[in-house]
Order: sequence, then C-alpha cells, then structure tokens
Amino acid sequence: MQIRADDVLIVVDVQNDFCPGGALAVPEGDAVIPAILEIAPKFEHVVLTQDWHPAGHGSFASSHQGRHPLETVTMAYGEQTLWPDHCVQGTWGAELHAELKLPQADLILRKGLRRDVDSYSAFFENDRVTPTGLEEYLRERGLRRAFFAGLAYDFCVGYSALDARRLGREAVVLREACRAIDARGSAAAMERRLREAGVVEMPSAL
Ligand SMILES: [Zn+2]
Repeated sequence: MQIRADDVLIVVDVQNDFCPGGALAVPEGDAVIPAILEIAPKFEHVVLTQDWHPAGHGSFASSHQGRHPLETVTMAYGEQTLWPDHCVQGTWGAELHAELKLPQADLILRKGLRRDVDSYSAFFENDRVTPTGLEEYLRERGLRRAFFAGLAYDFCVGYSALDARRLGREAVVLREACRAIDARGSAAAMERRLREAGVVEMPSAL
C-alpha cells in the first residue's frame, strides 16, 4: 500500500504495563516494537497514545470491592471490563516502552485520565461521546487515513479503528504490528466488528 503525506500512523499504548513483565501484559506485547519501528519511517505523521490513569481508576478491579480482573461492572456510561491496576500516572508501567524509539512522533496523546471513565479508543472515552481531542487534531493538521498499530488489538487498537470509521475516516489496522489480549474470544470478535465496519486489515507489513 502506498503511504501518502496526509496519512497518519497511530501507535496505541506500547507501554511497559502492556508488555511482558507489566501489570496487564499482552502476550508477546513487545513483539510489536520491531514491526512498528520498521513501518514508522514510511509515515510523515506519527501519533503515540498512552494509557494514563490516576490511582484508584474506575477500570481497576481493586477499585470495586470484591471484584476481580476481567469481570464486568456497570458504570454511568454502561458496561466496563475490570482490569488489574495498570498505567498509573508517573509509574514505570505507564511509561512508553524504552525500545519504542520514535522521536519523530508529532503527538503523544494521553487517555483514561478521568477516574470515572475509561478510554479504550484514542478518539472517544468509553462513554462514546467525550472526545479526546485527537479527531480535532488530525482535522486541523489535514491528516486523513488512519493506520493503527500497537496494543491491544482487541481493545484499544480495535476501538480506535472503529471510531475512526465512525468519524468517516479510512482506517487500516496493521495486524502484524498488533497483539491481542484475547480474553474470552475477544480477538475474533473484534476482527469481525472491524470487518463489518469497513476497517481494512493488512496482514503483513506495508
Ligand atoms: Zn487502561
């Protein structure tokens, strides 16, 4: 696929806590890094996202008495999956992985900052209406097609790509540069949703 000057690569949540040794490690999470470093130089525009929660965040199982990771609770905006404490602001786990060397990135977008609302998508918080500002940023910069890589395929990458489509953008998921949590069939479910939404999946590198 030919990359254009107004394409943007969005690298989702390649942080210590989502890599082996982290609090919410995605299997082979760090394997996305070499793939991303190979792809990124083809883009003039790169955006990084960073899950960035205050301590005691509502998505943490530890914030709900007697509840465990991967159970669901009902938040003000609907159903929310619970996770181990992860990506707490200012901690090692929240840092971008040290090998993800992308000094050319235009923007580092932090999400999940509000205690009572999680944010899987880089575009909207989980209430589906509160924008993170990314769409406005891309529009102001004249950037159009959105390419996605990072962690995790079946959550933050997938929901970001679905929202890009919802906003009328062409969206491409670079599958080799993603890894999934795959809890209870979530990877296959996301693959189906992406296909139905018209997101293009590229199986191999560009
Ligand atoms: Zn999170």
